[in-house]
Amino acid sequence: MKKPLTLGIMGGTFNPIHYGHLVTAEEAFYQFNLDKVIFMPAGQPPHKKDKEIISAENRYLMTVIATASNPHFTVSRLEIERKGPSYAIDTVRELRRIYKEDVTLYFITGADAILEILTWKDSEKLYELCHFIAATRPGYSLERFRKLHLLPENDSRKKKPSVFFMEVPALAISSTDIRKRIREGRPIKYLLPDGVASYIFKYGLYKKASL
Ligand code: NAP
Repeated sequence: MKKPLTLGIMGGTFNPIHYGHLVTAEEAFYQFNLDKVIFMPAGQPPHKKDKEIISAENRYLMTVIATASNPHFTVSRLEIERKGPSYAIDTVRELRRIYKEDVTLYFITGADAILEILTWKDSEKLYELCHFIAATRPGYSLERFRKLHLLPENDSRKKKPSVFFMEVPALAISSTDIRKRIREGRPIKYLLPDGVASYIFKYGLYKKASL
């Protein structure tokens, strides 16, 4: 019998994409036996008022450059083309509509983002439609996740998300640190693919604190 399609949705702002993200996606591909990983740069990250977020098109293009050599990675424009905040529920519903067959979805992102999942739009419905892979940096305390499983008995939010944890040592690299390094003129080589670094320098991205 044919194995149902199993897809990873790599959700993130990717501001910019770096090796920590790429290692996370590759590790999820391997550990969860995924058929492919779809990188999904957020058009308008729902919980962010960060002035340092550069245009969605630039973040998308850097993601394409970073993933080009990997045959089981693709990049989607779904969220950057959708108007308004990039809610995961809308993305997951859209992917289910596109892949009509019986598809299993894993939404992969940073543990700190998943920690806030109770506050995401239509979260209970989202739990029914996909699993979650929370990527953690080394030394990350999982204690913080207890609240997701310790909802009081009388809480009407009875459904719980299915969250898998994956420690990724390469996540010691962070987009925030890379942006800071660029502003301060410090090196970013070996933190992200050369093509992405070249793109950043070619267009003078992240030079100012607020763009
Ligand atoms: P964030 O707060 O910028 O990231 C939280 C942490 O996770 C950061 O340390 C970040 O590191 C890391 N991270 C982010 N994406 C990652 C990935 N794909 N793999 C590994 N680590 C990752 O999070 P965000 O980018 O705003 O949101 C993450 C995802 O959750 C996005 O797809 C967003 O659309 C979704 N989200 C949905 C809702 C909703 O539906 N209501 C609400 C919030 C977030 P770096 O800074 O180095 O990336």
